[in-house]
Amino acid sequence: MSVQKTPQVLIIGATNAGFAACRRLSEAKPDWKVTLLAQDDDLPYNCDLLPDYLEGKMSKREILLCEEGFFSGHNVEFARSAAVSGIDFPRQRVYLKNNRRLAYDYLIVAGGRKPALDIPGKGKEGVFVFFGLSDADEIRRRLSIPGNVVVCGRADDSRRLAGLFSSAGRTVKLLLKEGGESSHLPGDNPEILGGTDIVEIIGEGKELKAVRLSGGKIVEAASVIFCRRGNPCMDFAAGGEAEIENGRIKTGGNLRAGVDNVFACGEAAAESGAEDARLQGIRAADEILAAESGKTEAVV
Ligand SMILES: Cc1cc2nc3c(=O)[nH]c(=O)nc-3n(C[C@H](O)[C@H](O)[C@H](O)COP(=O)(O)OP(=O)(O)OC[C@H]3O[C@@H](n4cnc5c(N)ncnc54)[C@H](O)[C@@H]3O)c2cc1C
Repeated sequence: MSVQKTPQVLIIGATNAGFAACRRLSEAKPDWKVTLLAQDDDLPYNCDLLPDYLEGKMSKREILLCEEGFFSGHNVEFARSAAVSGIDFPRQRVYLKNNRRLAYDYLIVAGGRKPALDIPGKGKEGVFVFFGLSDADEIRRRLSIPGNVVVCGRADDSRRLAGLFSSAGRTVKLLLKEGGESSHLPGDNPEILGGTDIVEIIGEGKELKAVRLSGGKIVEAASVIFCRRGNPCMDFAAGGEAEIENGRIKTGGNLRAGVDNVFACGEAAAESGAEDARLQGIRAADEILAAESGKTEAVV
């Protein structure tokens, strides 16, 4: 009988798919070395509950997927601010933007989406994209800042945000790109402007003054909020064995990303809601457990 090496598993992305994979593996194999890489500083959280958190219906604790103690209790290294810049598939290494280099036996890519905002003037103070937990915190702070608020993007999220700001006493314009529905009655708050979108953010230097809408109208604004679910962004996996198509990693039925020991799940691989992403994370973990149990049987 030969002694089998304990495998090292790296997981890129720490929300629905990535954390589900991490939990599954660390509960099934507490002696394995599992590392979970998060791009930002927060504990893993449920993105789909962010609107409830923003509205104050749920606390931060309620939307977290685990508490701080989970990682030490499950022998997992949780690396914050660990944005991945590249993968060397033949050498089985992941490179981080902070210059760290990590080796793996198995890699799970659960990197999901990134918000993209490509509008002139997007860097001005008071312009936000509602996408992650830190955005939600910034936007909450914005509730008490005086001045007009313009909300646009996904209809479901932006309606909720517009309602939140108008309840906080702000004057709100809600832009709905699709659908021609508009309300211009005096005193309507939020005022709905249908069939339009922001084409430019206006102001001197960093100062935000107004937005220009498609059609040319200029609307004064102290805060502008874009509700976006982002685009798939697997560029860091490009150039190796994994095939990238429309920003996502191509996988077969078993979630493998062109190489036997690399898996892609959730939004990194296909359009998936929160629950699909969690289930795929668990499946990726199960594939690794099955691959390793096959090795154990072979060496006994
Ligand atoms: C505001 C909001 C509301 C939503 N509401 C719903 C809803 O009601 N119902 C629903 O089904 N879905 C909803 N979604 C979508 C749902 O959250 C996603 O479908 C789901 O989270 C996808 O999970 P994922 O793990 O594949 O990817 P994501 O949740 O996108 O997570 C990917 C993680 O990978 C990280 N990452 C990305 N690139 C790198 C990198 N280079 N290095 C390291 N880490 C990286 C990201 O920071 C992120 O933490 C919502 C999303 C948002 C933003």
